[in-house]
Amino acid sequence: MASIGIRDVSKIYNGGVTAVSSVNIDIADGEFIVLVGPSGCGKSTLLRMVAGLETISEGQVTIGGRTVNDVDPADRDIAMVFQNYALYPHMTVYENLAYGLKNRGTPRSEIDARVAEAARMLELQPYLERKPRALSGGQRQRVAMGRAIVRKPSAFLFDEPLSNLDAKLRVSMRGEIKRLQRRVGTTSIYVTHDQLEAMTLADRLVVLSGGRIEQIGRPLDVYHRP
Ligand code: ADP
Ligand code: ADP
Repeated sequence: MASIGIRDVSKIYNGGVTAVSSVNIDIADGEFIVLVGPSGCGKSTLLRMVAGLETISEGQVTIGGRTVNDVDPADRDIAMVFQNYALYPHMTVYENLAYGLKNRGTPRSEIDARVAEAARMLELQPYLERKPRALSGGQRQRVAMGRAIVRKPSAFLFDEPLSNLDAKLRVSMRGEIKRLQRRVGTTSIYVTHDQLEAMTLADRLVVLSGGRIEQIGRPLDVYHRP
């Protein structure tokens, strides 16, 4: 686990759009932060700067105390979960889960242990030999989360991971992420525009508006202000 520091971070896109403007957030070890706000407020830009998928125009991002502005995404020790869980269609669930570890040269026994652990947590054991096309949408999204979990990263970054699922599945997956959060306790930043998802998952909510922090606090304090 690792703390994440976002210090005076701004993003000005080529062409002059200021998508994120002097944002400061100190995220503690193990804390689950949810970014909310209307479309275009800068949520995914901020997340993508932490991930290293977008350059940081101004300010600093630290992960575990180390400044990562110029560190490659692959070397940031974070795992990202997207809404479009691009699973490898020709690989089984096991192979999808193992792929990233294999590429890093993780020993076979360690890969097997980590895949087994993730499969147990996500109740994917019965499906390890199936191909993605033989899975439901919820099962596929669980495989996508499993791929992040097996890496045992210092932090998870979630970019609207449930927004492509139907309403019923969203509710059950929300509960599943909550359970995982309790068990694994990894520092997380989660982007959503779903208020219930935000309320359920967040230790602290960050409400963005026009690239700036409008409010930051515990869910009940943010949503039940007089
Ligand atoms: P959100 O995730 O909250 O919907 P975004 O971070 O996607 O917001 O976008 C924030 C602002 O930055 C918007 O005005 C958007 O149009 C703009 N923007 C996002 N990506 C780019 C880009 N690659 N180039 C230029 N402007 C962008
Ligand atoms: P989101 O659902 O995250 O708000 P968008 O539909 O705003 O996604 O953006 C989809 C993609 O297009 C993102 O990669 C974003 O960075 C890029 N993008 C968004 N707005 C602009 C823009 N004004 N100019 C260029 N790229 C943009």
